[in-house]
Amino acid sequence: MSPLRVALATKNPGKVREIASILADAPIELTGPDAAWVPPMEDDPTYRGNALIKARSLLSLSSGPCLADDSGIEVDALDGGPGPRSARYAGEGASDEENLHKLIEVVRRTPDRARGARYRCVAVVVVSSGEEHVAEATVEGTLITEPRGSGGFGYDPIFVPVGEERTMAELSPAEKDAISHRGKAFRALIPALRALAG
Ligand code: IMP
Repeated sequence: MSPLRVALATKNPGKVREIASILADAPIELTGPDAAWVPPMEDDPTYRGNALIKARSLLSLSSGPCLADDSGIEVDALDGGPGPRSARYAGEGASDEENLHKLIEVVRRTPDRARGARYRCVAVVVVSSGEEHVAEATVEGTLITEPRGSGGFGYDPIFVPVGEERTMAELSPAEKDAISHRGKAFRALIPALRALAG
């Protein structure tokens, strides 16, 4: 029997790489979004709402289940911001680099003891029957002002996970997946994917 095809609603190459590797042992064949898919406006104030907007918009073009996530960094010195707006922190269409540098400016003005942050991820799978599964996870850490490492993406060069001395960008891909918000959230969806695969 051929594996269940599941389409992933993202055009972020960092996410594609990570999610493919996190789900490598799940009984599914992960595909990219349909070529006709245009990423929708993520105008919900919540991660869950935005993840569902992305997955449902791809489902309207697909026959099989669709996966999506919404994620972000929550910085204590910004009262939990930028949160779901992390991809647009330095403005609409900002690059990872621009967002990172804007956050470094904030961290520079923040005393050491107040440099806590966490990544949060909400992962969803939606099916044409209307069935929807949602999983949420976080990873805690602290922020530094001098970027280190070339792995991962986004804010990883300044995020040091709790229990580590290295930044997220200095971990190997497998080490990041083992502890990351995205790794934990997508692994929590595997039983639902297994059930859908029959
Ligand atoms: P989304 O595509 O709306 O989920 O945007 C997620 C944004 O949050 C990314 O563009 C990054 O700025 C940030 N982010 C989420 N997860 C990570 C991660 O694993 N590493 C670094 N930055 C992340």
